[in-house]
Amino acid sequence: VFGEIEVAPRDPILGLNAAFKEDKSPKKVNLGVGAYRTEDGKPLVLPVVRKVEQKMLDLGFDKEYIPQSGLPEFQKVSPLLLFGKDSPAIKENRLACLQTLSGTGALRVGCEFVQKFLPKGTTVYVPNPTWGNHYSVIESAGLKAGKYRYLNKDTMKVDIDGLLEDVNNAPDHSVILLHVCAHNPTGVDPTKDDWKKIAEVIKKKNHLTFFDSAYQGFASGDLDKDAFSVRLFVDQGLELMAAQSYAKNFGLYGERIGAISFVCKDAKKAEAILSQVNRIIRAMYSSPPLHGARIVALTLGDDSLLSEWKKDLEGMANRIIEMRTALLEGLQKKKTPSPTKDGTWKHVVEQIGMFSFTGLDNAQVKRLIDEHHIYLTSDGRISMAGINPSNVEYIVNAIDEVVRH
Ligand code: PMP
Repeated sequence: VFGEIEVAPRDPILGLNAAFKEDKSPKKVNLGVGAYRTEDGKPLVLPVVRKVEQKMLDLGFDKEYIPQSGLPEFQKVSPLLLFGKDSPAIKENRLACLQTLSGTGALRVGCEFVQKFLPKGTTVYVPNPTWGNHYSVIESAGLKAGKYRYLNKDTMKVDIDGLLEDVNNAPDHSVILLHVCAHNPTGVDPTKDDWKKIAEVIKKKNHLTFFDSAYQGFASGDLDKDAFSVRLFVDQGLELMAAQSYAKNFGLYGERIGAISFVCKDAKKAEAILSQVNRIIRAMYSSPPLHGARIVALTLGDDSLLSEWKKDLEGMANRIIEMRTALLEGLQKKKTPSPTKDGTWKHVVEQIGMFSFTGLDNAQVKRLIDEHHIYLTSDGRISMAGINPSNVEYIVNAIDEVVRH
């Protein structure tokens, strides 16, 4: 009954993980998947998360179903983090927030909404390059994915003119997906001035913005500063959708906790959208999981736990910054030729967030994997969290070798 079914190709990022696991070399290094690692290369459960979990056990919570839209306490605090306590959209009751299966689930629910309620043929434009899964999520929801220019490879900065031109040339009422901060994979974000220009074009063209926030707290180390783009767009009076993930900033990868918010022109619209998205969720997976939602809700809802979380987050962000410097210094010391036009490796420390977009090409990446057991995505992106004081020299030597020979 199943007929002929071929084995699907491996996911480019998750497949790297599988290949890493199979690699028997003691020297192997995983710089592929974007998950935080300690100085010893180990996964980390944040101290504040452990504390809240203990509190949850002590309080003896039940394990009942929660509504399609999520845990009410979570739905309340999640938008405060992204949009800010004083957000006019929250104060005016015109923001609908629903809990989702992490950031990916939020993106998928948002795309389902677009597919169901926006005109047929609506295209979702993503930056080029972007997180690879964006394409699959958009297309799986029956939508078309388009690209707008994002990175200027010569300067390793945002190609703002190209971006504005492409967003301007997209048909009116398109969906424009924007990374809120710490763009994956480039680690390069628009400036404040750029964001203002982007908001202007989007407004002029009546596009719908779909923000993707997967790294709030990882870009500048300051949660409010990292949310600048979203808050600016709300202040500009734009209606929008925003996906939030708590995978990275809370280290809750496997708990699948995230949210989607709809900022609407009035409370009536927000209520209608909430009810429609509830129906979408009901048909997809009925209701979201409880555990991660409780952790985030309890932490964000308590001033003292909130400041503990900020410290934990700062610790992760700082370790990544230290590794950027260590990598740069190593490459400088060896005088390793840089693949960028300016001939330096400065971009490694200038880029922000969890990743560095090295500029290494496909063939060099392949050699790093095959000959040096260093795993990274084919676009030359490395997860900085996978670098630590014990492996940085090995990584530098390997990069030097593949660049020179
Ligand atoms: N968006 C971007 C840009 C990402 O990098 C990621 C994680 N790699 C996600 C969304 C979603 O991650 P998750 O579903 O684990 O929250």
